[in-house]
Amino acid sequence: MALRHVVLLGPPGAGKGTQAKQIINELGLVHLSTGDILRDEVSRETELGKTAKGFMDRGDLVPDQLIIDMIRGRIEAADQGFLLDGFPRTTAQAEALAAFATIDVVLNIGLAREEVVRRLAGRRVCRDCGAIYNLTFNLAEGETTCAKCGGELYQRDDDKTEVIANRYDIYERSTAPLIEYYTRQGVVRTLDGAAGSENVFSEILELLSA
Ligand code: AMP
Repeated sequence: MALRHVVLLGPPGAGKGTQAKQIINELGLVHLSTGDILRDEVSRETELGKTAKGFMDRGDLVPDQLIIDMIRGRIEAADQGFLLDGFPRTTAQAEALAAFATIDVVLNIGLAREEVVRRLAGRRVCRDCGAIYNLTFNLAEGETTCAKCGGELYQRDDDKTEVIANRYDIYERSTAPLIEYYTRQGVVRTLDGAAGSENVFSEILELLSA
């Protein structure tokens, strides 16, 4: 299998995390989610976590250099290949990444703004196993227990309605230009995030095993 250095791109709520969990099970890549790593730093109250928290609570991006320093060693250690989820998010991050890793394919999962807002507001995450649910698809209103492990489901602070619009604006301004950046390198494959997660997943598997 040639495509071992994979980037997942797309607005928040497009299904990057859900797809990532399935892809790594199937292909044995290392899943590197900068959002997950940061949330762990925040919950452990590390120096990085304390610095990042304010940016994250507002839906703003954490400064590039902090993110690059945090992720670089993990990428370099991923001998069997990696799946980047939520990184890079700015052109500066993509340029830094290019200096220490090649990228084989960028899976660009598109989703319209109204659907992003609806999905993020309905997203719930398991505190214990990290499983992702959505009131729109697979979770009954009022359900607070994870069907996979029995853990408690919670709503991320940055999935509250007042933060969602800011996150989408930042995606459009800072992250969407990466589609053009990677298109110039000929590595972008675009998927329709509204197609349903099973369909998106089978398309991704086809692309990655081609
Ligand atoms: P996510 O789980 O990918 O939606 O990330 C949650 C939050 O973590 C974002 O809204 C940012 O505040 C921060 N974050 C995650 N990845 C990055 C990144 N590559 N660059 C800057 N901030 C990030």
